[in-house]
Amino acid sequence: MKIRVGFGFDVHALVTGRDLWLGGVKIPHTLGLQGHSDADVLIHAICDALLGAANLRDIGYHFPDTAGKYKNIDSKILLARTMQLIREAGYELGNIDATIVAEQPKLNPHIPTMQATLATVLQVPTNDISLKATTTEHLGFTGRQEGISAYATVLIQKNSELPGPF
Ligand SMILES: [Zn+2]
Repeated sequence: MKIRVGFGFDVHALVTGRDLWLGGVKIPHTLGLQGHSDADVLIHAICDALLGAANLRDIGYHFPDTAGKYKNIDSKILLARTMQLIREAGYELGNIDATIVAEQPKLNPHIPTMQATLATVLQVPTNDISLKATTTEHLGFTGRQEGISAYATVLIQKNSELPGPF
């Protein structure tokens, strides 16, 4: 069995007049994330980690924000398409471990819903998706609530019996 690790990082600015989407879930908050898509920073970090693990470039390469068809798109669609690319390359997900960095709102109550949502989109067991939330103790742009960032690591694996490029 071949296993590969991938890493992803993303940031979006917090602004008024936008919904806050994280991990495919709409979170009640006074601010939302600015972006061409729904700006789901966690999903974008996971997509980049998956693509990186398979050496398939990055999310901007596959879903350019100059393409009008991706305007305000639900990032769950981008995640499903990304996982399809990973499977077409002959890989299956091992696990995801991700961290969201946000001063507000408190995210821990929403973690189980995000895990279940992502598991459904990826068609993997919920137990393979670990999500953590932290703050930066009021320091930096996340601490000043100017934005939210997310980090993700993933492991993908390929069984040697499966077809695909080696
Ligand atoms: Zn993004």
